[in-house]
Amino acid sequence: MFAEPRSPWPRWIERQLVRRGISDERVLRAFAAVPREAFVDPRYRALAYDDGPLPIGCHQTISQPYVVALSLAALRLTGAERALDVGTGSGYQAVLLSHLAREVFTIEVQQKLYFEARLVVPRFQLAPVQLRLGDGSLGWPEAAPFDAIVVGARAPKLPPSLMEQLAPGGRMVIPIGGEAGQALCLVTKSASGQVQQKVLERVSYVPLIGKQGTGESAE
Ligand code: SAH
Repeated sequence: MFAEPRSPWPRWIERQLVRRGISDERVLRAFAAVPREAFVDPRYRALAYDDGPLPIGCHQTISQPYVVALSLAALRLTGAERALDVGTGSGYQAVLLSHLAREVFTIEVQQKLYFEARLVVPRFQLAPVQLRLGDGSLGWPEAAPFDAIVVGARAPKLPPSLMEQLAPGGRMVIPIGGEAGQALCLVTKSASGQVQQKVLERVSYVPLIGKQGTGESAE
């Protein structure tokens, strides 16, 4: 028997991400650099490196690491981008983005989560992260266009505002579909403005509320 070659990555990253095909070194390095345990409710800290979503309050969840990694890898970030993260939640994905892009804008609709994220995000961000409380289904028009957009909640269809705010040559990852399950879609806009859509994976996200989401408003 030959011993397996030692992985340069922490065990959970090797198991959950590398073995499932995530190979973007910058993405893997970001996951190794950002402690997920700092973004979960202290009650669930022992489960922080398990292979699944976890509750973060307000009936919301921090997404499964693999799905976050798949989304971030699909954006093919080089470090030069302005990126928009819709649905800050715990702030974990926004912080990972700040290790991969030049500037991050993140927007959350639930006040409690927004205030909590404002405390934790600056502790772990690399590039600057701007946080906003509001309806992210409408994007962040004043900061647009974005080279990359990642949406952490499911939309019934592609929100037109996000499409408009995606720069030519830009990439967006967004779960599209209803309660029963969604397609995690990669949407690309060519330099001439042509849009293409590809399904990356079947997923199960919490709903994107707001005007261009499900139409519901925050409690
Ligand atoms: N990416 C987050 C997890 C997101 S869960 C993380 O890393 O923890 C989805 C988040 O989207 C929830 O916090 C939810 O409140 C938020 N959300 C839902 N609809 C929204 C909207 N219209 N605008 C902004 N945030 C929204």
